[in-house]
Amino acid sequence: MRLFKRKFIKLLALSLISSMFPTSFLVASAKKVINPNLSKKQKEIMFKEGTERPYTSDLLKEKRKGFYHCANCGNKLFASTAKFDSGTGWPSFSEALPGAFKTKIDYSFGMERVEYHCAKCGAHHGHVFNDGPRESGKRFCSNGLCLIFKPE
Ligand SMILES: [Zn+2]
Repeated sequence: MRLFKRKFIKLLALSLISSMFPTSFLVASAKKVINPNLSKKQKEIMFKEGTERPYTSDLLKEKRKGFYHCANCGNKLFASTAKFDSGTGWPSFSEALPGAFKTKIDYSFGMERVEYHCAKCGAHHGHVFNDGPRESGKRFCSNGLCLIFKPE
């Protein structure tokens, strides 16, 4: 009986917390490290919403045909055909593969930005803006460290 009561209180507390922070709570709980070889910087970006320094990614120069995968879980995220040079210093894409990401509003730095996370492992990848040059109008601003390119 006492065990049941404790469980009930725990459940009640959990549902209270999740109703206060509906999206952030759900995203945070879904995050998990799958690749044991992730570097400290990769973990900082993917699990603590960090950002790599602009113009540092080797993927900026990548022009081959293929797909970009999540560095943590291997989920296929972007096709090379969606990649474009945004001039921002971060690998940019006009669209993601269907179902690749889940989004969340990020209010940090006094801005309202849409953050995207890998739908499979919950890792943070970047922010998506509505100023893209192509038909989709989107600009997925990605941290290159979170991506692994596999040429076709
Ligand atoms: Zn992933």
